[in-house]
Amino acid sequence: MDISFSEAKGMFGTVIDLIKKGSQMEAQAQIQKLQEQYLGLHAENLELRQELLEIKGVLQEQTQMIFDEPFFYIEDEGNRDGPYCPRCWQGEKKKCRVIQTPDSYNGTHRCQVCDECFGEGKPMPEIKFEGY
Ligand SMILES: [Zn+2]
Repeated sequence: MDISFSEAKGMFGTVIDLIKKGSQMEAQAQIQKLQEQYLGLHAENLELRQELLEIKGVLQEQTQMIFDEPFFYIEDEGNRDGPYCPRCWQGEKKKCRVIQTPDSYNGTHRCQVCDECFGEGKPMPEIKFEGY
């Protein structure tokens, strides 16, 4: 049961009045309701703080992400982390590492998540046909 802020404020006043009147049982019932409300709000507050931290993290990441063609990097106080896949970052804001693939024919780098290849790959070996 959710109690509005003004209702809760009123309930505190009611509790004080009940105690002054000596109605201990009624005061206790009011305090119990307030306690339940407090515990619910405390849990909700923790959840919201966690969400806020996550949002702050995402926002910070977005402001630190820089584009140095062809990849994205995170720059934080002169430190550079990456490279990150431009396809994944620009598409879904996913921070996916790009690894070097020096022996690949498809490209010099490959995203480990979307499998996109970047750069020029190793030239294909010449196929020699014998017997012609
Ligand atoms: Zn990718």
